[in-house]
Amino acid sequence: MKKLVGIIVVCALFVFYIVYGFNSSARYTVVLDPGHGGLSLEPISIHGDKYDHDQAKYLAAYQEGASCGNIFEGEMAYEIALAAKEILDLTRTSSGRVEFQKILLRYSPSADVPREPINVILSREKGYSHDKYNTFNNTKDEDYNAPFRLFDFPDLKTSHRKPGLVSRMNSESPDLVVSLHLDSIGPTNGAMAPVVTPGYSTFQIARDYIMADSKTRREIKRDFQKSPYLNWVQMSGSRSAFEWFLCDAWIYFTGYWSTKNGLNPDPDSYKGLRQDMVSWAYSRKSWEDQNNPDKMAGLPDLKNLNLGDPFWQREVSEPENWKREGGMEGVGGDNLYSANEIMRFIRLGLFAHDALPEKKLPDIREPHWSTWSVPTYINAINAFIELGFLNNRYDRDRLLKYRDIHAEAIAVGIYSLLYGLKISPHNINDMPTGTPLNLERYKNYQGSDYFKSVMRRP
Ligand SMILES: [Zn+2]
Repeated sequence: MKKLVGIIVVCALFVFYIVYGFNSSARYTVVLDPGHGGLSLEPISIHGDKYDHDQAKYLAAYQEGASCGNIFEGEMAYEIALAAKEILDLTRTSSGRVEFQKILLRYSPSADVPREPINVILSREKGYSHDKYNTFNNTKDEDYNAPFRLFDFPDLKTSHRKPGLVSRMNSESPDLVVSLHLDSIGPTNGAMAPVVTPGYSTFQIARDYIMADSKTRREIKRDFQKSPYLNWVQMSGSRSAFEWFLCDAWIYFTGYWSTKNGLNPDPDSYKGLRQDMVSWAYSRKSWEDQNNPDKMAGLPDLKNLNLGDPFWQREVSEPENWKREGGMEGVGGDNLYSANEIMRFIRLGLFAHDALPEKKLPDIREPHWSTWSVPTYINAINAFIELGFLNNRYDRDRLLKYRDIHAEAIAVGIYSLLYGLKISPHNINDMPTGTPLNLERYKNYQGSDYFKSVMRRP
């Protein structure tokens, strides 16, 4: 009996060491988030995304991402993310950390051996290869997009709520989420671009405009056209950048698109309240709440926005402001800094490996500003990057030929954002700064860890 107890104790200690010994020493959790993965299948009632519980239907088609010939955004982003994870996973063992230091020394004159593991998670499994498209199309009895939806959705057979990618990423309480995408159409020389959602204070400008007199409106519009937001993403040419900014502010505040002049909601264009499509501390209600009094209660009024809702308390909070406003790039907060810094590491990696000369390095473009889902509803710092433009031959060649350099530079960039890194001098523009994020201010926010507060009711 004594012997059996001894064996059980030894086994328990061993399991404790395997499960807990590793995790307890990882101070930081990073999610590598390759975009897309699923397919834009019909019917949307089965295969869509943005499930609105009030109306019991999907409000949007699944976004499968960009493609060019037989190159697909979701596949390429996944391969780069997986390769970057394999490099960062070197930090899990002491011999791996020595290997990781050798990689750091390609970018730095004096990098130390990392002292602790980094906990790295992929946001999704490998997506479908595209030849599946025809066999999957028009099917109603299987939910192929279940592993890849951004937002929560009902299980096709049981109707139980299933967490989408945003809820699953938040449940890991990561410090940093690195979202990797490719765009379709870009500049002729190829480039990379950050994708950013500003904070509450910028959307408040649109709300002020809508509620202002005509003289003040002219001033607000003039200021916008001189601001860093002047190239706000235009989803189509039917509206100006300023009109899209107003429309996106309506979506952010109410879930409705606006009329073209941005002054009123368009009653036929409800896109849903995305904060209620996520399982977290900031939704107004759970799916289980019956007799929901908000159900289609008429058109919203921006004058009487209820800022007492937990989501709006989060939006006006200091940490969201740090993430999305001001900061080291002047605008865009820690999110834009992280995205730009990783892209600067990619340029440095391509140059330091002699892959491309200075004048062939991909430029870093101005941010794509909009109400993007991941930067708005992820409770971590989010570096969201378009790695290239698939219509562009230079970008396709760069990503196919130097995939591993991209993955390495992303891994080194992530390390630098967490711990800081002294950078070797090189004669190129847009060098990384090597400055770490100030993560401690989030981790010690009002006596608790802001990144962990996401799953708890405030
Ligand atoms: Zn994408």
